[in-house]
Amino acid sequence: LQIGIGVPGIVDHELGIVRNAVNVGLAEVALAHRIASAIDAPTTIDNDVNAATLGAVRVFAPSQSGSLAFLNVGTGLAAGLYTHGRLMRGRAGLTGELGHLPSRDLSSERCGCGSHGCLETIASGHALALAWQDRSIEFSVALAEGHREALTIWNRLITGVVRALEVITLMWDPHTIVVGGGVARHHHRFAHDLTASWSELTASSSLLASPTVVDRVQIADPETPLGALGAALLGNEGLSPASGLANA
Ligand SMILES: [Zn+2]
Repeated sequence: LQIGIGVPGIVDHELGIVRNAVNVGLAEVALAHRIASAIDAPTTIDNDVNAATLGAVRVFAPSQSGSLAFLNVGTGLAAGLYTHGRLMRGRAGLTGELGHLPSRDLSSERCGCGSHGCLETIASGHALALAWQDRSIEFSVALAEGHREALTIWNRLITGVVRALEVITLMWDPHTIVVGGGVARHHHRFAHDLTASWSELTASSSLLASPTVVDRVQIADPETPLGALGAALLGNEGLSPASGLANA
């Protein structure tokens, strides 16, 4: 038995320490060690988006050739990158924290990180909830009914997610980009609207107007639990396909 856990927050994967996970109230906790000693099984922890990235590799690039970026549009907005057979984690676990990309042309709102105009202040489930709080009608219902304000908030989100796709493409140029996360699960029009908006953006750019750019974006089936699948693969990452991802 091996245990893998994806934690929403900043995680020191090497040392097995949750540095800061505000949404679940953990800070500086040696989680891997505590679970491993309680259950007596080797335990690996990582950021939840990194875990889901491994899950996306398993589903969308099972041969593990080429690079894959996973963009999670959930409570927040963040990406993971898998390249050369492993996750790119960076020095402080900040790789892919695109939600905090300064985007003041799209937003001037204050972000949970303390800054203003971060991308996830418009392009995340949290942003939708904040923009729609204290209404008598549910956001998804209002959106389905074509409520003008709901549509404006929704279109801002789609614009923000497209911005993230653009940054991922220009920064990493990965072979495949998979988009997943809770927003697609709650709003069935997500895949359609994002695809249309991404096609429109790429068509307007001489740099991005190529089928290899447009077609590399795939939307994950909201019912596939990429995070759980990837967490189960965490301990085997970086091993050969025979002993690692392919058999997990
Ligand atoms: Zn921020």
